[in-house]
Amino acid sequence: MTDWTERANCRGTDPELFFSRRPGDAKRAKRVCAGCWVAEQCLRNQLEYELPQPGDGLETNMRLRDGVFGGLTATERFALQFPEEATRIRERERARSQRLLEYKRAKYAAMSPEERAAYRGKVDTPEKREAKRERDRRSAANKKATVAA
Ligand code: SF4
Repeated sequence: MTDWTERANCRGTDPELFFSRRPGDAKRAKRVCAGCWVAEQCLRNQLEYELPQPGDGLETNMRLRDGVFGGLTATERFALQFPEEATRIRERERARSQRLLEYKRAKYAAMSPEERAAYRGKVDTPEKREAKRERDRRSAANKKATVAA
């Protein structure tokens, strides 16, 4: 019997792509999976492998998952296997972010004008972002110059 992994579309591609946190990489990995002959087998294998271990709660199980397999991200695979728990976790996280936002708004509302100005100075602005991009550009140019030398 032939090993199904020999027919995998990702053979020869950089495995890092499938576990990358860089924006857009999950989409790129999914594109590789989209044309894969063994995607179904790959997904089935991974879902089996990721089943919760005795003693692991479902939330722990969700956090332990990683990578794109069978065209699905870790979160998507968890939602496929445990849709109700995935919805519960999502709602809890949304509520947590909402509480944090409300806390920050209340804190800001209670600040004096001077404190607000100081606070605004700390947060991200388009000018700060542009300055950072410029610093990054200069640093990249310096690195290139060092490599070329
Ligand atoms: S589905 Fe994706 S990860 Fe799985 S074998 Fe195919 S290309 Fe590789």
